Amino acid sequence: MFAEMIEADYVVVGAGAVGLSFLDVMLDFTNADFVLLDRRQAPGGHWRDAYPFVQLHNVSAQYGVNSRPLGRDAVAAEGPEAGHMERAGLAEIIDYFDGLFAEKILASGRVRWLPGHDYRNDGTALSLADSRTVQLRARRRVVDATFTGTQLPSVAGPGFPVAPGVRCVSPNALPATEVGAAGATVISAGKTAMDCVLHLIDRGVDPDAIAWVRPREPWLLNRAYLQPHEAAFATTVNGFAMEMEAAAAAHSVADFFWRLEAAGIVRRIDARAEPTMFRCAIASDAEIAQLRRVGDVIRRGHVVSLQPGAVTFDEGRVACEHDRLFVHACADGVPRKPARPIFEGERLTLQYVRRCAPVFAAALIARVETLDLGDAEKNQLCQPVPMVDAPRDWLQGHLVEARNRLRWSALPALRAWLGDARLDTYTALISRVMETPTPEQAAAFQRWRSAQSAGYARMAELLATE
Ligand SMILES: Cc1cc2nc3c(=O)[nH]c(=O)nc-3n(C[C@H](O)[C@H](O)[C@H](O)COP(=O)(O)OP(=O)(O)OC[C@H]3O[C@@H](n4cnc5c(N)ncnc54)[C@H](O)[C@@H]3O)c2cc1C
Repeated sequence: MFAEMIEADYVVVGAGAVGLSFLDVMLDFTNADFVLLDRRQAPGGHWRDAYPFVQLHNVSAQYGVNSRPLGRDAVAAEGPEAGHMERAGLAEIIDYFDGLFAEKILASGRVRWLPGHDYRNDGTALSLADSRTVQLRARRRVVDATFTGTQLPSVAGPGFPVAPGVRCVSPNALPATEVGAAGATVISAGKTAMDCVLHLIDRGVDPDAIAWVRPREPWLLNRAYLQPHEAAFATTVNGFAMEMEAAAAAHSVADFFWRLEAAGIVRRIDARAEPTMFRCAIASDAEIAQLRRVGDVIRRGHVVSLQPGAVTFDEGRVACEHDRLFVHACADGVPRKPARPIFEGERLTLQYVRRCAPVFAAALIARVETLDLGDAEKNQLCQPVPMVDAPRDWLQGHLVEARNRLRWSALPALRAWLGDARLDTYTALISRVMETPTPEQAAAFQRWRSAQSAGYARMAELLATE
């Protein structure tokens, strides 16, 4: 027996950045109505439970929803991030989603919002407040905006047993926790762990008092080459060109990354370790210099358990001070999952269609959804690009993305939309700059264009042989 039956053109499950980005474009391009539901009480998804010192690692100009700028596109004139565009912190991100939600999503009068509801695959949703079940019917599609499956240390826990008496906190609790004379150990090599190390150093903790468990070494993208503003045009586009040139000359995937490193496109924290991890994390040289100050790096595999005075790893047991502070940052932020078709009859599953660009993907998919095409044609336009986890995945993502881009540009409606789309920062920048380029800008663009076919061809060969 259902408490209520709710019908709408689209049922959107998940009010995180991806669900909102999809809705934003759908509201602009259709007259459809929507039910939007989320287990959480407020929109914004994982940002609602994020650690307080989190900051976007890409620029604000590339984040949020398409119709509404996030930040002012300011470029730092001095300091460690000189020449880099602004990146929003947690408070700004939450404010942004709250404003968007009140002023556009709900104000549209076409979105019925069901907070605190858990969607079940039988088409019902359970109210987490009073356990009543609502039946949902989508006239067009159910949109799964949960595929990203974001996992957070504060919600998922450490993932290994922690004996009573051991001081072990999530990144959320770190700012209010005393480090103490015994120092701190940060567990995990991911972006959240890097943020924790930077936070500790910013707080004045001596880097010699910090240990860092890094089961895998990550490659990091150099932020200096990912700046979508005019003054950085030549650097950014030369960076794209150098990547293609590196691919064309590479003997292996590892060699491709060494060449990228020699060109400055990627960095590693420890030059002696061979990275096997690549999750699109972006860092500046100033951040990497800080991270390198931590010399006590523990490479014994994953932590198996924490006991008072000892840590057990995959590879052995290490003694430590009884009152050492541990920071667990091990949750798999954005897990890599097998892709599925995006458009499937009554179901639409939001996934990446460009490397590491979740909100752009959701906006693009919404624009494709509004075109008068069948599912097979829509899927041709939107081949999923799985989340990157290892260096090889980056090449695979490049190739799928290049194919997607070619198909988008062959369709006038999509080409026109992309030319204007806020979230497609590079396309808009390139069209703007190339109207009257300086000789340096024209040369960078020409260099990139000339390098592409050999670069992509070699990427395909490397993937076929490794
Ligand atoms: C710490 C961190 C920093 C990041 N920084 C960046 C960055 O700088 N730039 C960038 O592009 N990306 C970044 N990301 C990647 C991030 O995953 C995406 O940017 C984006 O926020 C993901 O949004 P989402 O809507 O897919 O997922 P979520 O934010 O996880 O939202 C999904 C929502 O679905 C709801 N839900 C799930 N299942 C159900 C169900 N059965 N019923 C009802 N509701 C359900 C959840 O409650 C959740 O609110 C970061 C991720 C993390 C973890």
